[in-house]
Amino acid sequence: MTTYPDLKLYIGGAWRKTSEEQPVLNPADESVIGSVPLASHADLDDALTAAAEGFKLWSRTAPRTRAEIMLKAAALMRERVEEIAHAITLEHGKPLAQARLEVVRGCEFFEWDAAEGQRAYGRVVPSEPGIRYVVFHQPVGTVAAFSPWNFPMSQPCRKIAGALAAGCSIIIKAAEETPAGALHIARALHDAGVPPGVFNLVFGVPARISSYLIPQAQTRLVAFTGSTAVGKHLSELAARHMTPVLMELGGHAPVIVCDDVDPVAAAHLSAIRKVRNAGQVCTSPTRFFVQEDIYERFTKAFVEKAQAVTVGNGLDAKTEMGPVANHRRIEAMEALVADARARGARVLTGGERLGNRGYFFPPTVIAELPDDARAMREEPFGPMALINPVRSVEEAIEKANSLPFGLAAYGFTHSAARADQLADGIEAGNVSINTLEASVAEVPFGGVKDSGYGREGGAEGLAHYMTVKTLSHRMV
Ligand code: NAD
Repeated sequence: MTTYPDLKLYIGGAWRKTSEEQPVLNPADESVIGSVPLASHADLDDALTAAAEGFKLWSRTAPRTRAEIMLKAAALMRERVEEIAHAITLEHGKPLAQARLEVVRGCEFFEWDAAEGQRAYGRVVPSEPGIRYVVFHQPVGTVAAFSPWNFPMSQPCRKIAGALAAGCSIIIKAAEETPAGALHIARALHDAGVPPGVFNLVFGVPARISSYLIPQAQTRLVAFTGSTAVGKHLSELAARHMTPVLMELGGHAPVIVCDDVDPVAAAHLSAIRKVRNAGQVCTSPTRFFVQEDIYERFTKAFVEKAQAVTVGNGLDAKTEMGPVANHRRIEAMEALVADARARGARVLTGGERLGNRGYFFPPTVIAELPDDARAMREEPFGPMALINPVRSVEEAIEKANSLPFGLAAYGFTHSAARADQLADGIEAGNVSINTLEASVAEVPFGGVKDSGYGREGGAEGLAHYMTVKTLSHRMV
């Protein structure tokens, strides 16, 4: 198996190292597996110059040609799936099977957006005789994008696919803790023949990069995925320069389990989904509100399934859940568990770090938490499920909506009326009924309230990377 890649920046179609670097750790054993170069302001100046040239060329390239290059890059990433997945598991910890699925997911974003970019139709608006109104779309310009560490490949793919399909150039700062996914995207785009400057990859000190790129007049869209706190900070910075933002931020997904479903089947599905990516997913099912009649059976089945999960090194074929990605997640989990215990909640399984080498934390189930427990209000972003009984669907919806977040929400019911009640009543960008899937390439994904602004995926996602121009043409 190929080893972990040699990490570099990709600016103006060329690879470069820098004088400042930072180690990359394997969360399964805390060993150093690589060294990521950190960009200086001079590197960013070069990226901006390259992206300006790249935009001139790419925005005037036929959408079909853009799509051909994107599809070729996706095909290369599919060919290289084993090598890429291996690198992702090394740097992030997730099981190899999940890393492979992530690579495929990233390719799907490229493939769907490449096709949709060719359908960015405008319209002719009928009006008074002698004048023709034409509304059409143009790529917004250079995009400054910031992607997080939880999905090293699919997160950057989403932003890059949107920008390239729309005809924009992009400078993306991918995650320093998990840089190999983005590096492999750069390799694939380079090998597929993307012109120099259209796509630029940097790593660095996050605040140094964002505070330099966002105020630039050349930056015409800021696309960020990460925590709500950082998203608000970057939005404020962008607002000072009237630069639009696309913000995909934190969630705290509620799951409403109605008493007309099989509680064991719902619990098993939920527990499996909870441990995906060790719970480090902004859509991870977390706050379970279960109707009283099935509460005991649901909770028991959930705990049994959680306890049966094999936790270990992601490279081991038996592993179902790897370590969390960094030590900050361990500290966060431990603090939330301690607070829940102090407030009288029952920790039914898990709750303590496993071993002291590697960032392993077991699936953790906590029941009967008061509404003001920290875990009920702060996104755990780890393998933690919180289960509470509710009397009615109305009470569950009220509790689901009680937080400032509104990203993904889930419901289990066999009643069409209740499904409608959940779909209409829950404040979230994405509501899923009888499935815990929330985000695929062909539909828009994003949040309301503190979970963010704008959508990624689907036709709505692509629209952010374009600006609308109206032409008024009087016939003379
Ligand atoms: P954090 O708030 O320090 O960082 C979140 C992300 O923002 C990271 O990718 C980081 O590199 C980036 N970032 C931080 N400061 C920045 C700046 N000034 N400019 C540009 N980028 C900046 O937290 P963390 O410990 O890395 O992650 C913890 C929390 O972040 C989680 O609890 C979760 O809520 C959130 N998160 C969300 C997602 C998501 O998919 N929405 C992904 C990763 C993290």
